[in-house]
Amino acid sequence: MGKDITVTGDRPTGKLHIGHYVGSLVTRLDLQEKYGNNLVFIADMQALTDNFNDPLKVRTNTLEVCLDWLAVGLKPERNTFFIQSLVPELTEFTVLYMNLVSLGRLERNPTVKTEMKQKGFGVDGNPVPMGFLCYPISQAADITAFKANIVPTGEDQNPMIEQTNEIVRRFNNIYNCDVLVECHTLLSHTQRLPGIDGSSKMGKSMNNAIYLCEESSSLTEKINRMYTDPNHLHVSDPGTVEGNMVFTYLDAFDPSKEELEELKAHYRRGGLGDMVLKKRLNGIMQDFIRPIRERRNEFEKDKGEVLNILLKGSQVAREIAANTLSEVKKAMYMDY
Ligand code: ATP
Ligand code: MG
Repeated sequence: MGKDITVTGDRPTGKLHIGHYVGSLVTRLDLQEKYGNNLVFIADMQALTDNFNDPLKVRTNTLEVCLDWLAVGLKPERNTFFIQSLVPELTEFTVLYMNLVSLGRLERNPTVKTEMKQKGFGVDGNPVPMGFLCYPISQAADITAFKANIVPTGEDQNPMIEQTNEIVRRFNNIYNCDVLVECHTLLSHTQRLPGIDGSSKMGKSMNNAIYLCEESSSLTEKINRMYTDPNHLHVSDPGTVEGNMVFTYLDAFDPSKEELEELKAHYRRGGLGDMVLKKRLNGIMQDFIRPIRERRNEFEKDKGEVLNILLKGSQVAREIAANTLSEVKKAMYMDY
């Protein structure tokens, strides 16, 4: 048995939100205690696949995302933080893997399908960028280059992991080797946090997020306009808990599960107002976000140091990827 290697990335398309926290960051914090050698990267090449016309947004958010990592308590001493584009070997892996995946298979990837609709690619005659369609292949490169076997992500990434493992099996089979390693996801307790608009997923490109650095006043404002039960018109009416965003967020963040169950029963019976619930949620979220925001403000004072952390980590990541790439090329008779 080899040792466990974990890898995860975030797209630098905006600051991180509480969906990232419950879906992925919380698992990374656990793993940092357990292994202390996790790879965590900024997926800037991937972000460009649907933001190629706004490179400055990608560049700016590279530091913002790293600040969020530091703010929630991920430590550079316990993780290798790196920038995807500073490991050009990953692009080589991607090109080599492209031969192993069909167009039809990419088009059938459920996450790609959902995101194409969201972004309007392939809708009303809008073209689908090849880079975007192929991003699951580049994700396979990000994982396999480090021989990672554990990938802590939200459930939207399951199809990517499946696709990665298909590539691994085809590669090892065709090139008659065991260079590449299969991986599995490590899902957290809350695999998908919906947006404050009640949409299926909170996403930083979707304008429906509560950010980890949210200011106190805008946090309250967002919670106050959150969807509850549209049929719960009077406090005395019985209310529905399922699909009620306030309860969904309480489920993810309320430290007292017992009190929460009582509140749910009360709400279902009738007699519990939305404002009482929102006030509770606001208190919990303010306490959760305040220390993160404050730590972020501290780290923000020295952005040069934050960039240095990423540059140093990128060198380490590059060495590992280059080693795997030589093995891959050897298996393909490209070891000139
Ligand atoms: P974008 O809208 O640009 O795709 P995003 O908000 O989806 O941004 P990503 O960088 O694509 O964020 O995702 C980073 C990680 O966070 C992934 O592992 C993903 O599964 C997880 N994640 C993102 N949004 C959520 C969410 N709402 N609930 C749980 N996990 C999430
Ligand atoms: Mg995403």
